[in-house]
Amino acid sequence: MIVGRGAAPGISIGQAFKFREPVLRIEKKPGSGTDAEMARLQLAMDQTRQDLAALKDLSEKNISAAEAEIFSAHQMILEDPELWEQTRQLLEVEACNVEYAFHRIVQRFVVMFESMDNDYMRSRATDVLDVGQRVLLHLQGQSLGSSLGSSLGRSSQLPENAIVIATDVGPSTLAQWLPLGRLAGLIIEVGGRNSHVAIMARSLGLPAIVGARDATHLVADGDLIAMDGDRGEIDVNPDADLTEAWERRRQQWQALQTELQSLIGRRIIGPEGHRPVTLAANIGSPADLQSALKNDAEGIGLFRTEFLYMDRNSLPSEESQYQSYREVLEAFPNHLCVIRTLDIGGDKKLPYFEIPPEENPFLGLRALRLCLKHPEIFEVQLRALLRASRYGQLAIMFPMVTEVSELLEAKDILKKVKNELLQQGHSVAEHIQVGIMIEVPAAAISAEDFAPHCDFFSIGTNDLIQYTCAVDRMNKSLEHLYNAEHPALWKLMAHVIRVAHENQKWVGVCGELAGNPEHARRLVELGVDELSMSAPSILPVKKYLVEAEGRLSDASSPTSSLPSWQASSLPNF
Ligand code: PEP
Ligand code: MG
Repeated sequence: MIVGRGAAPGISIGQAFKFREPVLRIEKKPGSGTDAEMARLQLAMDQTRQDLAALKDLSEKNISAAEAEIFSAHQMILEDPELWEQTRQLLEVEACNVEYAFHRIVQRFVVMFESMDNDYMRSRATDVLDVGQRVLLHLQGQSLGSSLGSSLGRSSQLPENAIVIATDVGPSTLAQWLPLGRLAGLIIEVGGRNSHVAIMARSLGLPAIVGARDATHLVADGDLIAMDGDRGEIDVNPDADLTEAWERRRQQWQALQTELQSLIGRRIIGPEGHRPVTLAANIGSPADLQSALKNDAEGIGLFRTEFLYMDRNSLPSEESQYQSYREVLEAFPNHLCVIRTLDIGGDKKLPYFEIPPEENPFLGLRALRLCLKHPEIFEVQLRALLRASRYGQLAIMFPMVTEVSELLEAKDILKKVKNELLQQGHSVAEHIQVGIMIEVPAAAISAEDFAPHCDFFSIGTNDLIQYTCAVDRMNKSLEHLYNAEHPALWKLMAHVIRVAHENQKWVGVCGELAGNPEHARRLVELGVDELSMSAPSILPVKKYLVEAEGRLSDASSPTSSLPSWQASSLPNF
């Protein structure tokens, strides 16, 4: 058995199809002068621009508008002035051909992304490579597939029920295969769970495994493959008994999916017997909306906006942020969407924004602390959020708050930005909730001091565990001490929930713990109002809660309107 990392759940049994992206041979040759070489690059980029527009179209038709946004990200990579400028500089120094210069610069970008200590950012290397390869192929006069005809020509070799085995696959290749309807699974040697192709696979319901080392050597074209996209398990040419066992597993998986689907639209009722518990989704970009909607999320409980800042080489503009926030709000017109302001620092870094070296980055200039120190960045985000607010039910959430004064300062800035917008003729929603993450023990213990100044609390258990147990959440050797069961954590959470309710505020949990069925059950017992988790966890958690508690709304009760306790916010800034 080959073992990789599960990237998109599901069991598939199919026929191996080994795929190789076309190999590029880039040789260094004397160039015909910087201007002439750059003119060739310009032409190749124009052709790539057309490819990406066509791929966006194709994805919109075959997947969704949200997934098609991946190609907007590719367009942004293509438009990055650094790619262009650095290629020009290299051409001037080396007097070489533009293929060589551009290839070197793309590799430089890829290495930069690959060396980041954040899985999401590492995964962006594949996108840069995908775009770079497309430009280079145009430069070499062999289109990778702008003409969709040629790409479909290659794809037509896909057998029925194909399980693709590849070193790596760019999102554009996957998008081109989809119209054929023959894909049963995807196994990739490199790549992370956050690569765009993994995200696409999850939202398509296509089982996928990443990090399956040596798979392309261990599998031959046409081999029978059985795979589990959840556990990352791959069997090559299983014998008859094993194939039968896989077939049973596949059927059980499908039965489970049918059962989970039957829970769509039903709501979990809390221990008091009347108030529903909201099961919302955590997202990192509008690209995750499709999965949130498909998995029956009742709104967004955490939008980690820092990912909008990471997938690029400069700060995102107010306009691009506004478009993203608006897209999220419009996807859930009847539900609350909690959008968290920028949370960088700690393990999340921006390639273009230097945070001075710190002894303990997790105890350092992070999240709201950093935003208050850099109002020029913070205000742009708040402007974008407030402008988007009229398109849905917005809640703004500040991360890593420790002192009440930080919350008050943030709210003052929010108020100032709102007034400026109104003066400039923009409209802003009347009701916008403002809340804080509870992820520092100091804030949890003195929750009563914060409650009068906000509409809600959302407990960030990922950080609350690390700060309560004094265990760096990134330190693998201390994993056994990073303890989600620690009584201190549960005492803190019980306290925060009680204080929130005493102050007529709602309280959610948006750390990983919320997506663990047994922890979710305990939190519901403690009276939590919202659990927010990665979208694929929502229905399994709902199933567990139904089986453990049996409290489910009847199928006919309305599920789309905002619960009164969440809707009752007064403008408080
Ligand atoms: C948390 O700390 O629980 C949380 C949700 O925030 P993040 O994981 O982004 O730090
Ligand atoms: Mg956190």
